[in-house]
Amino acid sequence: MKFIAGEFDVAVIGAGHAGIEAGLAAARLGCKTGVFTINMDAVGNCPCNPSIGGTAKGHLVREIDALGGEMGKAADECFLQSRMLNKGKGPAVHSLRAQIDRRAYSTRMKHTLELQENLELRQAEITELEKAEDGLWLLTTRLEAQYKAKAVILATGTYLGGKIYVGDVSYESGPDGMFPSKFLPDSLEKIGMTIRRFKTGTPARVLRSSIDFTELEEQSGDDPVVPFSYDTETPGENRVKCYVSWTNENTKKVILDNISRSPMYSGRIEGVGPRYCPSIEDKIVRFSDKPRHQLFIEPCGLDTEEMYIQGMSSSLPEDVQLSFYHTIKGLENCTVMRPAYAIEYFCADPIQMNSTLEFRDFPGLYGAGQFNGSSGYEEAAAQGLVAGVNAALKIQGKDPMLLDRASSYIGTLVDDLVTKGCSDPYRMMTSRSEYRLILRQDNADTRLTPIGRKIGLITDNRWERYCAKQERMRAELERVRKTVISPSKELNDILKERNTSEVNTGIRLVDLLKRPELNYDVLETIDKTRTETDRNVLEQVEIEIKYEGYIKRQLLIIEQVRKLESKRLPADTDYSTIEGLRLEAREKLNKVRPESIGQASRISGVSPADISVLVIYLSAIKNKGTEETV
Ligand SMILES: Cc1cc2nc3c(=O)[nH]c(=O)nc-3n(C[C@H](O)[C@H](O)[C@H](O)COP(=O)(O)OP(=O)(O)OC[C@H]3O[C@@H](n4cnc5c(N)ncnc54)[C@H](O)[C@@H]3O)c2cc1C
Repeated sequence: MKFIAGEFDVAVIGAGHAGIEAGLAAARLGCKTGVFTINMDAVGNCPCNPSIGGTAKGHLVREIDALGGEMGKAADECFLQSRMLNKGKGPAVHSLRAQIDRRAYSTRMKHTLELQENLELRQAEITELEKAEDGLWLLTTRLEAQYKAKAVILATGTYLGGKIYVGDVSYESGPDGMFPSKFLPDSLEKIGMTIRRFKTGTPARVLRSSIDFTELEEQSGDDPVVPFSYDTETPGENRVKCYVSWTNENTKKVILDNISRSPMYSGRIEGVGPRYCPSIEDKIVRFSDKPRHQLFIEPCGLDTEEMYIQGMSSSLPEDVQLSFYHTIKGLENCTVMRPAYAIEYFCADPIQMNSTLEFRDFPGLYGAGQFNGSSGYEEAAAQGLVAGVNAALKIQGKDPMLLDRASSYIGTLVDDLVTKGCSDPYRMMTSRSEYRLILRQDNADTRLTPIGRKIGLITDNRWERYCAKQERMRAELERVRKTVISPSKELNDILKERNTSEVNTGIRLVDLLKRPELNYDVLETIDKTRTETDRNVLEQVEIEIKYEGYIKRQLLIIEQVRKLESKRLPADTDYSTIEGLRLEAREKLNKVRPESIGQASRISGVSPADISVLVIYLSAIKNKGTEETV
């Protein structure tokens, strides 16, 4: 028999990466929050790669941390190996990636939720979601307990209608042998939500002792380790090695000989897969001219012998998997502990949401993570934070947290999702941002911590440290601008060695640092007045100096774009009645219902001419409003 078991301000369906950040943010902002999970032992589970960060994803983790989120801190505590990727390229694409202990990470996150004030963690499958007569959302569990909530955040990951595929075998399941969320999809459709099928896949895990490491290339972590979190004062040490191997002609042959047995190629999987994280059979078919594909062999934890084979996800039958894994150097005799599989699941088209991640047609209902059509732990966590914060702010009658594209990768991610929607699982990449030089991983705190503080997620202690760091950066910038280095043999020897022109008069330190061949480390012996030792302060100052011209230009563009973003379009605008708009623009605008002229300009199918019409329309309704007031 159904019974009312409790009432929350915010109920979060899901305790994956999105649900964790959503729940913590709402609770930390003072909302009574319930977080539901199908399995309590899989809170913050990493069903695919045991790692956090990576290209552009590392930026997201830094930004989550800068706003007061949890992911960076947990990754710092549970990492096994940490590396800054793309160091040979410009600072815009430097990205932190940490191999993590999968179990330790999950335990750490579960414990954080358990200890969080205002938050209750429940193992319960939500089977129904509906609007109660009193206007609150009503959630029903599989055991018929009912909860009421002012706001609900859907963060159901790959569980929603989950179905696993391995060759011609398929069955209903969540990831890692967990129950799927079988009943909720019908309930969502019943309230009028549009959902669709996506799919993703994971590679096999193999037994460490069955791998022959002797001829594999080793990959070590960085020294010193750079932490994700601005709260981590003493980063830990690298504790494991990762390994590199390659597919070869034999791997290709085994896969191509059996391609008809792939559920994707036989058409049994309907869901759309991730374009940027393809399965090995997909890579081999799509890039058939490539003789080999790289793969990484990575430990899943300190107290397990499971090794993850990154780059080799598959949904081919188990016997084919064994054959192709055994063609790879180092894996010739490997024991597969968990076979690779593909999973198909329901998710929503995020075009139904506004940039707070609230459904436009279902006030108080938010979406986050894989449920919104994205793929990846970091993308999920970022959206969880946005949804959790905004659900709390709305309940408290406060202004929403709106992050624009120029502020962050998080803003870019949300804007991409709600403006363009996604036709395959969305993954963050640095190329998705037009402001890469501003949105660096090193300056996430400068960009976002004041916003986190304003919302209420940054503690006094952290804020004091942030302000002190900003002051030290300002002082260091002033010092390098004022310091003049006299010409000397020592200086000219350095310049000669670095192939940059020598000097015969005094030169400002800032002008030396501007040279691409030089940096703080190279100039250390002649820079006698430097007292600043914080690597992050020095890194930010150096980048600001080296790229000053580009940064200024980008800031100018941002200023212009922000003017368009500030031209807000009324939520109830009926675009079909605006004369001068083309038919396609009317349809698209009515579908997306943009919040500003800026957002409207990014909708595909809305032309610059349509934007001019909208600007005229806005000023006309503004003038009309003024006339009416007069
Ligand atoms: C097989 C596989 C392969 C993947 N491959 C990749 C990859 O290559 N690259 C990549 O970036 N990402 C990959 N991912 C995706 C990655 O796992 C997700 O993007 C990430 O975990 C999403 O986080 P989330 O919080 O949205 O959902 P999840 O981490 O899936 O968490 C969902 C949560 O919702 C709960 N839940 C669901 N329904 C209900 C319900 N009805 N009631 C109560 N609780 C419910 C679950 O118990 C769980 O706690 C893969 C995932 C899987 C499963």
